[in-house]
Amino acid sequence: MPTIALKVDVDTYIGTRDGVPALLAAFQRFGIRATFYFSLGPDNSGKAIRRIFTRKGFLAKMIRTRAPSVYGLRTLLYGTLLPAPLIGARCAEVIRRTERAGHEVGIHCWDHVKWHDFLPRMPKPAVALELGQAGSVYEQILGHRSRTVAAPGWTLSADSLELQDALKLEYSSDSRGTAPFYPVWEGRRFRTLQIPTTLPTTDELLGEKGITATTLNDHFLSLIQPGLNVLTIHAELEGKATVPLFIDLLERLTKQGARFITLGEAAAEFGGSAPHCAISMGEIEGRAGVVALQGGALPSVP
Ligand SMILES: [Zn+2]
Repeated sequence: MPTIALKVDVDTYIGTRDGVPALLAAFQRFGIRATFYFSLGPDNSGKAIRRIFTRKGFLAKMIRTRAPSVYGLRTLLYGTLLPAPLIGARCAEVIRRTERAGHEVGIHCWDHVKWHDFLPRMPKPAVALELGQAGSVYEQILGHRSRTVAAPGWTLSADSLELQDALKLEYSSDSRGTAPFYPVWEGRRFRTLQIPTTLPTTDELLGEKGITATTLNDHFLSLIQPGLNVLTIHAELEGKATVPLFIDLLERLTKQGARFITLGEAAAEFGGSAPHCAISMGEIEGRAGVVALQGGALPSVP
């Protein structure tokens, strides 16, 4: 019986306001509890437009996935022609409702676009400020500290890993890989357990190798492994543009007897004897730019 940990990335104001309630309704219908990672600061989605000029393959990806129709025109202008809405302040009730419904709630970021585009060049105090601002709004909204973070665009650095250790998080989820592990970045060992995303995402699959909306879920089902699978979905996509497709996937997985858990439960159940593994930024199929990738296991040090 496969186990599926559902990780929901919430990147934008509209995704939080409209996509999250739609996902909460879907999860309630199937009795599923998931882990939601919220962006809590300004929605600067419009600024992501600069990736067109700096990132190989980004424009082709935007066109292929029909980004304007997925995100809506306003979202594509936030932080440029339109002021950037502060997501945590505007959507506090949605975030509280998510936790009240029994889901786990973690921190995605303060400013998604800034983290995704600039993390490697940010000085350590700036990285600390991004996490600190998100942490303080999180605590204002939910009355307790977050146990987990998940980096925007699976983008991390030695500084972000060091800050996770300093925050004494129970686990984090900002990489792609096969099974829970402790990250080793350029030879430096870190103490915060990583729960990597093991499956590709909808936006990576659609349009690749002839995969269409009709065949997407067959493809997802063919990728499910025995043991732990971690699926990242986006409130902007599975909670809005592709809701019916996602509900069909949940129906088919439920019929096959899949068990759904939160990432916190995955950490408790599968993290016990996690190895140390190398972690580095690299390319994956279907995604423009680089993401953090789990590498081979390294010998344990006493
Ligand atoms: Zn994100």
